[in-house]
Amino acid sequence: MIISSRLAVVSGGATGIGRAIAAGFARDGHRVVIIGRRSGLLRQAAAEIDPALVIPVSADLTDPGQVERAAAEIAGLGPVDVLVNNAGATVTPPSREGLAGLADAWRRDLDTNLITAVLLTNALLDRLRRPGGRLIMISSAAAQRGGAGAHSAGSYAAAKAGLHGWAFGLARQLGPDGITVNVLAPGYIQDTEIFHGQDTPEFVATKVADTLVGRAGTPADVAAAVGYLASPEAGYLTGQIIGLNGGAVLGR
Ligand code: NDP
Repeated sequence: MIISSRLAVVSGGATGIGRAIAAGFARDGHRVVIIGRRSGLLRQAAAEIDPALVIPVSADLTDPGQVERAAAEIAGLGPVDVLVNNAGATVTPPSREGLAGLADAWRRDLDTNLITAVLLTNALLDRLRRPGGRLIMISSAAAQRGGAGAHSAGSYAAAKAGLHGWAFGLARQLGPDGITVNVLAPGYIQDTEIFHGQDTPEFVATKVADTLVGRAGTPADVAAAVGYLASPEAGYLTGQIIGLNGGAVLGR
């Protein structure tokens, strides 16, 4: 349903979950900025989704200078109605021994999964529409149940949990301006790049067995939930962590 043309910004919008979110906004007639590091991939995704509505902006969101340049590009497009902080990646293996390697790996994971969102949000904060703006973080079920196994180790879970505590404060700060702040914490979502090379049938079967609904999540599942959180109808919903995990966090 086309409500009116709004402007959404989706970090990591060229692939996986972010791409499905961007496509959902474009389907509803909204303009969408997609941000990532790979400019060719961003241009291709924009052309494939809807070249009239999707605007590719390339930036490494861990780099403050690049975030400022991206925000300056976005400034020309008018107020931002929806910001979805979706960019992220799983655990970086330590590249050197000992505590020094551990510190490097944790810093990289915190940078990629938390600082990206902090920088982009702060760069765009003044541009968020007041009232009516929507700020949405894509966290992870790992933040709710802790990390286990190589792909949800402590650093990833901690970085995503950092989004939760930060979002509560932002909800308090921005609520009086009419901006809502919510977090979606997905469980296993198939068909994205994040588990590329790891998603063997056995891996997927383990993830599916964790759920109560007997299936993996899809990028479209996440896009549908984001679509609701971003809608004008969701104006009374703020400061919440919404688990989108087929019941996997609850357990059997
Ligand atoms: P993808 O790897 O497909 O998407 C991650 C996106 O983030 C890519 O488009 C990537 O683009 C972008 N990105 C990563 N680092 C940066 C950076 N430094 N600057 C700018 N963009 C960056 O995986 P998903 O779609 O699965 O992941 C999307 C989000 O969902 C992530 O935050 C992930 O943690 C979360 N999530 C995913 C789950 C799953 O099972 N798939 C489960 C729970 C949460 P580029 O490389 O071009 O920069």
